[in-house]
Amino acid sequence: MKPVTEIFSLLDKKKKIVITFHQKPDADAMGSGLGLYNFLIQFGHEVTVISPTNYAAFLSWMPGAKKVLDFEMQNEKAMKALNEAEWFFCLDFNVLNRTKNMEPVINNLSCTKILIDHHQQPQTEAFDFGISDTSKSSTAEMVFDFIVNSGNTEKINTDVSECLYAGVMTDTGSFRFKSTSADVHRMVAKLKESGLDHSQIHENLFDNYLEGRFRFFGNTLLNRMEVLYEYNTALIAIPQKDLIKFNVKTGDTEGLVNFPLSIKGIKLAAVIIDRGDERKSSFRSKGGFDVNTFARKYFDGGGHFNAAGGKNDEPLEEVVKKFKIAIKENKEQLNN
Ligand code: 5GP
Ligand code: MN
Repeated sequence: MKPVTEIFSLLDKKKKIVITFHQKPDADAMGSGLGLYNFLIQFGHEVTVISPTNYAAFLSWMPGAKKVLDFEMQNEKAMKALNEAEWFFCLDFNVLNRTKNMEPVINNLSCTKILIDHHQQPQTEAFDFGISDTSKSSTAEMVFDFIVNSGNTEKINTDVSECLYAGVMTDTGSFRFKSTSADVHRMVAKLKESGLDHSQIHENLFDNYLEGRFRFFGNTLLNRMEVLYEYNTALIAIPQKDLIKFNVKTGDTEGLVNFPLSIKGIKLAAVIIDRGDERKSSFRSKGGFDVNTFARKYFDGGGHFNAAGGKNDEPLEEVVKKFKIAIKENKEQLNN
């Protein structure tokens, strides 16, 4: 993978561009993707954003979101854009299987592939150009750097700012995680100068849930959470019937894993959800416990040191058993 700086001089030559990110995108995936979209269209490029799956309703306010194609639901249109693309940007994921059913299609693309990402151990051999930096708070911050370093700071308009702010704010846990560097605050200052109304973004993201989500959280915290003090660990396992009963939609489970993590003394929090086609896990840790390695070793996943995820084909009870064996094997590290 050659440095992303090598494409800067080609930015003003009109071309067809596709941008994608990981399946079930969070605000950083959508925000970095649409931030880049709103930047690139200013050069007159023909830009298509494709999400591998559907996305949460609380992201639909983002400028450009209405034009995002869902690879599963709008496959024909998405395939046409992919086949015609000259540049293909992959944002906010490290391994191609994070694009779910798009992976085989991406493997067959012969256009220029560009990675911008902050996850650990990226599949760099799959890309022509790119930048991977695990010290960065968010992919949104990296897209901001991409714009500034390419000499196009004046193209950071409010559409770009709103998308990038959503990404950097959510991936830093509202600016509380260690990754919140002075550069992050300088970036936000620049976004504010472009006219960003940050309070509105917080409202758009956090004050737009339906009642059912909170009934679901109530039931989950009361009936599905297990605190394993011996291992400084808390686990939430959610059967598929709960998702049906509370009409849980894409994105409704976002943030759930932070509740058990905020219990005093808890160093590892896990949420394992039976999504029907797979059992999807989210892991969060505080301090020195590395959930990226943990997710890779036991749950076919990965992510960052303190936030990672994985997936399993086995039934929920089996995945829970596996998790309990895994924390036994890691008891020493969890008690440090
Ligand atoms: P979340 O728990 O919010 O879904 O994900 C936490 C972090 O782990 C995110 O950075 C996400 O991209 C990453 N992640 C989540 N699930 C997977 C997975 O199945 N495989 C890999 N490699 N990373 C994941
Ligand atoms: Mn991210």
